[in-house]
Amino acid sequence: MTIGSMLGDIVNSFIKKPVTEKYPFVRSETPEDFRGKVVFDAETCTGCGLCVKDCPSKALELFTVDKANKKFVMLYRVDRCTYCAQCEVSCRSKSISLSDDQWELAATSLKPFEVYYGREEDVKYVLDQAAQTAAGASEETEKE
Ligand code: SF4
Ligand code: SF4
Repeated sequence: MTIGSMLGDIVNSFIKKPVTEKYPFVRSETPEDFRGKVVFDAETCTGCGLCVKDCPSKALELFTVDKANKKFVMLYRVDRCTYCAQCEVSCRSKSISLSDDQWELAATSLKPFEVYYGREEDVKYVLDQAAQTAAGASEETEKE
């Protein structure tokens, strides 16, 4: 490289706009078919369980609150998900899909990686049941 061409590059770099993105202050648009966080619609889910069965990462768990009234809660383990979109492909009622704008998923604790989807009262029911089961198990261990 000659001094002349080097000087040309230096002058150019003063004139050109930086290519660096100003994230997180400016968020870039994501493509329409971007594979972000899995989202779930409890209103249309039929509880068939296909998404859970077909997920290669065991990232989904379905809880039946009231089968007759189609009340289901989905536990989505974000840290296990590989964003393969198999759940979206398997779902016949389009109740589960990958968001194209939820992709800022980094966290400093495990809590945000356990997402319960469903109607508020149904999620509460599932969490209460889990807490009761955990309390029962710890009582059993104490007796031993
Ligand atoms: S995107 Fe793939 S890994 Fe993630 S929940 Fe769906 S099937 Fe499982
Ligand atoms: S495949 Fe669709 S309808 Fe079936 S349990 Fe999953 S989200 Fe619900």
